[in-house]
Amino acid sequence: MVQLEESKCDLLIVGAGPAGLMAATWAARCGIHARILDKRRTKIFHGQADGLQCRSLEIFDSFGFADRVWKESNHLLEMCLWNPDETSRIRRTDTIPDTIPGISRFQQVVLHQGRIERVFLDSLKDYSEIEIERGVVPEQLEIDHSKADDDHAYPIKVKIRYLDDDEAAPVQHGTNVPDGLFRSSLAEDDTDDLIRKSQRKKGSIEVIRAKYLIGCDGAHSWTRRQLGFRMEGEQTDFVWGVLDIVPITNFPDIRMRCAIHSAESGSIMIIPRENRLVRLYIQLKEVNSEVDRSKITPEIILKAAQNIISPYKLAYDYCDWWTAYQIGQRVGNSFSCDDRVFLAGDAVHTHSPKAGQGMNVSMQDTYNLGWKIGLVVKGLAKRSILRTYQSERRRVAQDLINFDRRFSRLFSGRPARDAADEAGISMAEFKVAFEKGNMFASGLAVDYGASILVAKPGDSADQGDGTDVDTVTNSTDRVVGKQELASNIKLGMRFPSFQVLNQSDARPWHFGQFLKSDGRFRIIILAGNLRDEKQWKRLEDFGDLLAKPDSVIRRYTPSEKPIDSVIEILVIHSALRQEVELLDIHEIFHPFDEKRGWDYEKVFVDDLSYHQGHGEAYKNYGVDKERGCVVIARPDQYVGWIGEIEDVEDIDRYFSEVLIPQV
Ligand code: FAD
Repeated sequence: MVQLEESKCDLLIVGAGPAGLMAATWAARCGIHARILDKRRTKIFHGQADGLQCRSLEIFDSFGFADRVWKESNHLLEMCLWNPDETSRIRRTDTIPDTIPGISRFQQVVLHQGRIERVFLDSLKDYSEIEIERGVVPEQLEIDHSKADDDHAYPIKVKIRYLDDDEAAPVQHGTNVPDGLFRSSLAEDDTDDLIRKSQRKKGSIEVIRAKYLIGCDGAHSWTRRQLGFRMEGEQTDFVWGVLDIVPITNFPDIRMRCAIHSAESGSIMIIPRENRLVRLYIQLKEVNSEVDRSKITPEIILKAAQNIISPYKLAYDYCDWWTAYQIGQRVGNSFSCDDRVFLAGDAVHTHSPKAGQGMNVSMQDTYNLGWKIGLVVKGLAKRSILRTYQSERRRVAQDLINFDRRFSRLFSGRPARDAADEAGISMAEFKVAFEKGNMFASGLAVDYGASILVAKPGDSADQGDGTDVDTVTNSTDRVVGKQELASNIKLGMRFPSFQVLNQSDARPWHFGQFLKSDGRFRIIILAGNLRDEKQWKRLEDFGDLLAKPDSVIRRYTPSEKPIDSVIEILVIHSALRQEVELLDIHEIFHPFDEKRGWDYEKVFVDDLSYHQGHGEAYKNYGVDKERGCVVIARPDQYVGWIGEIEDVEDIDRYFSEVLIPQV
């Protein structure tokens, strides 16, 4: 047996699915030393998740790769509802927009998980040395709890084992078409088997000491088992089949997203995909909850689909992938141990895939966590910010399960025959629930509670486990933002994006494009009407304070780094562009670099574009065009604080809870 040396890393990620890849992407952008392991030999090439919310696309855009996904994906614009008429024949009863118009610069799209993982892998290559270590399983986890609060310690010890190629390949179930049963809720997990087999063969092992670990190892999470954490919730009786096919059909809405409820044969969700593919989620009525998965075949699933969609015809010549699953709606009882080992993604929440949420919420878990670990490892932020991971994400997971319960019941139930049929599902209720659910399903309804990172007025948030936030942060004197200054920039929600113009070249941009995921906090100054002398002076005074040697931006920035490397300042004013000169504005708002000159990408204006109309940013943000306001956006674009231009002390107090002085 080859015993490899012990090694160290800042962050160890177990599992290279969407959650693990997002965590690795943050590690790459923050520049910390991370490793990412996966027990499988290859990435996913077919099937699995495919729906992307607008919020996920905004996040991809902040990393600079949304354009690839936007181009390759199929765009979902309309949703058609099909229901039985009085003769039990299915008919189109409604059409609704798939994404609520105007809520984001993106709409919901579909692209299979393998392509999405590819985009992540390419971005990792561009920004770091991080590579997925495949065919590797962790087999032992030890945590030295006594060192959990020591910023410099490596309290996590993981023994990993290298598998050979055969061991790392998932078992398939006898058809020529790739299936996802090995990842389905109907399959047993094979991790322990893999470890045992490899131990017998004396496969090589390595010991890794890590500062932090994230278990992104899916629904059967090994990491969760080591921590002894439980999943709470229940398994439903509904069994569903999934087919990714190129359909041959006379059903008229096959290129629309459809929810079809048949009178007696169950329901189908149709998701039109890239390359003429269509995904069908099909309720398997004749398979009960005691499922023997070896009996489920693509033919059985197709037969069920044909019954539901009748009298329309449905067949296929090409099937790309298929699977079957039973819906379990569960949330982990805890998301973190000592704020050193974390769980994310399917490892802490599982639910039905039809609403297209799992991959999105999983990626967004580690999108929430990755920058926090990055800044703490780099010594820029206090460890206490890590506590907000559980308080922020466990609540999202609980909301997701509640949403899924409502949605699955309405989708899996039999349509009511008439108003007196209480056992049936009212199709009017389904439509209303669907329309309401659309906001949740966009990912834009996420609203983080009060914490050291969200200066919300009113009640303190609970930590997702019932603990009060002020106990957790030990803060008696938490700063509170002034929500009334910006009615549509909500504390705890992501900073919305509207069109503004670059002051120096008149080019229109969606402001969100400047909120990059690079680990920086941002002070966004909505500077108001700079043609007004008083307003100009308010901004100049603010600039003078920020430029002082002990100002908030200097205090938290390492002396050898550029002044905007920890906190970036962006300005949007509301005067006419041509009546303001960039170089007249205080230098701190467009800093000078000896090699690169002035920074021309920090001052923007809410004005008319030559070719793309007026973004009306102030109006849309709900901010007074004369006086403006100031907003702190976290590195993940969520709004941390809102105040007046004079509220410099509050800005100081916000950052003093979160960041570590560097001087
Ligand atoms: P996973 O994707 O499960 O990744 C876990 C990774 O960890 C895997 O690569 C696995 O090999 C690895 N691993 C597991 N155990 C170990 C171990 N012990 N050691 C090392 N590595 C390990 N979600 C959506 O958002 N939109 C959709 O449209 C959608 N459709 C779906 C359709 C189907 C049919 C299914 C089954 C799911 C769908 N989902 C959808 C859900 C989505 O696939 C999951 O929620 C998402 O993949 C979770 O990501 P994850 O990274 O947490 O876990």
